[in-house]
Amino acid sequence: MVVEPVRCPHCEGEAGVAYGQTATGKPRFRCQNEHCERRTFLRAYSYQGCVPAVKRQIVEMTLNGSGVRDIARVLQLSPTTVIAELKKRPQPCSTSTKPWSKAAVPRRSR
Ligand SMILES: [Zn+2]
Repeated sequence: MVVEPVRCPHCEGEAGVAYGQTATGKPRFRCQNEHCERRTFLRAYSYQGCVPAVKRQIVEMTLNGSGVRDIARVLQLSPTTVIAELKKRPQPCSTSTKPWSKAAVPRRSR
């Protein structure tokens, strides 16, 4: 019998240990990396909106200019999932190279 290490999808570490089951009976794992942002994870999520790689793809597609409905259609998610994931992201850093201010926005000529 081959014991396969369980990789955490958040930190890519191999420190996953069994941690009970979900309500539907799927095995749940716990990441033992103390610096990992998530504690528990599943090997196979039923809904693709829960997969960390898909969540990262939502952010990347947004940065490339895709809209919410475009992302939802391409990744086969609900638009609500896309919006919820984008709202979770931290706000841009205040020490940006281009500080936003009302004076920086060009006024319309008319
Ligand atoms: Zn982890």
